[in-house]
Amino acid sequence: MSTGVVLARAGSVYRVHVDGREVTATLRGRLKHRDDDRVVVGDVVELDLETPATGAITGIRERKSVLARRAAGTGAARAQPIAANVDQVLVVTAARDPEPTARMLDRFFVIAEANELPAFLVVNKIELDPGVAPALAERYAAAGYPVLPTSVKEATGLGALGARLVGRETVLAGQSGVGKSSLLNALEPGLKLRIGAISEKWRTGRHTTTAAELVPLAAGGYVVDTPGMREVGAWGIDPADLAYCFPEFRPFLGQCRFDDCTHRNEPGCAVRAAAARAFPADRLVSYERLYEELNVPSWSSGRRRGS
Ligand code: GDP
Ligand code: ZN
Repeated sequence: MSTGVVLARAGSVYRVHVDGREVTATLRGRLKHRDDDRVVVGDVVELDLETPATGAITGIRERKSVLARRAAGTGAARAQPIAANVDQVLVVTAARDPEPTARMLDRFFVIAEANELPAFLVVNKIELDPGVAPALAERYAAAGYPVLPTSVKEATGLGALGARLVGRETVLAGQSGVGKSSLLNALEPGLKLRIGAISEKWRTGRHTTTAAELVPLAAGGYVVDTPGMREVGAWGIDPADLAYCFPEFRPFLGQCRFDDCTHRNEPGCAVRAAAARAFPADRLVSYERLYEELNVPSWSSGRRRGS
C-alpha cells in the first residue's frame, strides 16, 4: 500500500502525487458509493498501485482542515469541500498595476478566517511604489497578518516567500495581474507553465468551476491554484459570525451593550468604540459592507449563488 496526495480530479479519475511522481487512480469498492465530495484535492489517500503510474484509492486519511464553500439557502449550512489539508492562505496584491483594493483584500482574509486558516499578505511590485507595503502592514498589524514585500522584477523578498511555502499546502488568492504566476515562476522556474497546462487540460470548458488543483513544489509543499479561492466566496458565512472573522475585533466582542449587537449602529458598541484606536476604522467599513452582503434572505442568496 502507498499513500499520496490528491492533485486534481476529472470525473471519476484522480491524479495523485505519490513519492514525487503522478499516479492516475480511481476509487475502489465502497468508496465509490459514499456521497459526493468523498475525495477532494489535498486529501491524503491510501492506494494500491496496479502499475507504477496507475492505481486504486482504497482509503482516505482524516482531514486536518477543509477549505469549503458553504452552500447558501439550504437551511442547515452544508459545506462543500474544495480542498483538504490546506495550511495557509496567501493573499497577493500589487503595490500598483493593479492598485490594491482594501475591500477585496479584507474579503479574502474573512474567507480565510471563516475556514480557520492562517493567512498572510504579499505585496508584489513594490519597486513601483515602496510606500504601499508599510501602509498595508499598518492596516493589518492589529489583525496579525504578516505582510511580505516582494518584487519579481528586482528579485526582492523571494527567499522569504519561498521559505513560507516550503512543506505547506498554500491557497493563493489575489486578483489577476498582481503577479501570482510571476512569483511562483520566480521561485520555481517552469511552475507557471505547469499551471497553464493544467488549466487547459483540466479546467477549461468544464462546468465544474469549483474544481481546485494542487501543484507540487520542488522544494516540498503544494500550491492550490487560485480559482479554488475565488469560488469559495464569502457565501454562507452567518452574519452573526462575521465580526469573529476580523481578528482584531475579537477582544471587544461580548463587551457591547447588547448581546446581539451587529456592530453597525447600536449604542454602546465596544467594537465601534475601539475603531481608529485599536484598529483602522476602514476595517469596520469592510465589515459593514460584507455584513450587508451576507445579511440577505436565504432564498435570494441561493439564487444569486447559482447565477
Ligand atoms: P497573475 O495574474 O497574478 O498571475 O499575474 P502575472 O504573474 O501574470 O503578472 C502580471 C503582470 O505583472 C506581468 O506583466 C508581469 O510581468 C508583471 N509583474 C509581475 N511581478 C512584477 C513586479 O514585481 N514588478 C513589476 N513591475 N511587474 C511585475
Ligand atoms: Zn457591537
